[in-house]
Amino acid sequence: MNTNKSKHLFNEAQLHIPGGVNSPVRAFKQVGGTPVFMKRADGAYIFDEDDNQYIDYINSWGPLILGHNHPKVVEALQEQVKTAFSFGTPTSLEVEIAKLIKSMVPNIELVRMVNSGTEACMSAVRLARGFTGKTKILKFEGHYHGHADLFMKKAGSGMATLNIKQDDGIPKGVADDTLVIAFNDFEAMQAIVKQYKTELAAIIVEPVAGNMGCVPPKMGYLELMRKLCSENNIVLIFDEVMTGFRLAKGGAQERLNVWADLVTFGKVIGGGLPVGAFGGRKDIMSCVAPLGKVYQAGTLSGNPLAMTAGFATLSVLNSNPSIYAELDNKGIYLKEKLNEIFAIKGETHTINQLGSMISIHFCENDVTDFESASIGNNDTFKKFFHHMLNNGIYLPPSAFETWFLSSALSDEDLQATLDVCKRW
Ligand SMILES: *Cc1c(COP(=O)(O)O)cnc(C)c1O
Repeated sequence: MNTNKSKHLFNEAQLHIPGGVNSPVRAFKQVGGTPVFMKRADGAYIFDEDDNQYIDYINSWGPLILGHNHPKVVEALQEQVKTAFSFGTPTSLEVEIAKLIKSMVPNIELVRMVNSGTEACMSAVRLARGFTGKTKILKFEGHYHGHADLFMKKAGSGMATLNIKQDDGIPKGVADDTLVIAFNDFEAMQAIVKQYKTELAAIIVEPVAGNMGCVPPKMGYLELMRKLCSENNIVLIFDEVMTGFRLAKGGAQERLNVWADLVTFGKVIGGGLPVGAFGGRKDIMSCVAPLGKVYQAGTLSGNPLAMTAGFATLSVLNSNPSIYAELDNKGIYLKEKLNEIFAIKGETHTINQLGSMISIHFCENDVTDFESASIGNNDTFKKFFHHMLNNGIYLPPSAFETWFLSSALSDEDLQATLDVCKRW
């Protein structure tokens, strides 16, 4: 496959942009080689600067659950772009999307729109601190909640990929207020809540972790978290930036039937434009300014173009009752077939999958937390990644990332993917 234009562009990019990328996960650091520069997309496919075609299993790292350029989203954006880009005043669009979010996620009583998942998570924690009057938070190793200071401790995604453990740029006081334990460890959670319950403002968790590969919670783990939070005046924050509107209309909450006090959204909620949101219990959300004294604001929050893409995407998901079952079936099919292919090849591997989230770790052990996710053989992953890429299958360039399936992926696309895999 000829990717000369990408190579040329990457050389140039590095002269002007740190590492040549505007987000570190794009830099191919774990897998080596040159990141591919994309220029257009159509449904399940993306096309690079040299006009090579790829089946897309990243979908912009999650937002494009309907695939690229869904006609309903394109149409809505074309209409909006003729009307207005931005006012900085309230608009009816914001009322419509808030109502739609509430109808899809029943425990959201009030919701505030922001511009990214990072913003949503940092705002939710500030709110939890304001509401409880407490300071410390508990997060889980390998979970990623954006790049705000308070989350830069044993985080997943790019921090795991680049193996960044030290906290350059993070004030010690901030880091000290963030406690971290292993995901899916029942005893550790009970012990730390017991020790810090009078200081803990919030537990923030990816209910189905997706930033160390896909790692679902063990049975009863989220339920225990829910119970400990309720008993100790700790705000339970589900970070559904990745899982929201992806695992079900009501996200991981609906799928697993555990309900948080606050929920953060991003990715799918913006349909490919920059959007985030946080929402939940009315008594807590009422502490947000201008109702309360927890300040949070944004010049472009609720931006009309962003709201339009989000509303169109959520509307398609909301009005299409079979869409999640179809995504599930694709995920299960892919997992089963990949398992068969790797078994025949004698390739040691573990595939975790839930709904349209799936990931492969080249290790023997179950992958249930960050430690077990880190054991995988990176040389094997690297070879696998480049084989797939060179044959037109675009996977995330790190084993610490989840593949995202879209409703645009056809059975033929899945078959083509498996055929490439067989030739590895
Ligand atoms: C992507 C992600 C974020 C950060 O969202 P940005 O829009 O990149 O700031 C936060 N939490 C989770 C679970 C994510 O997957």
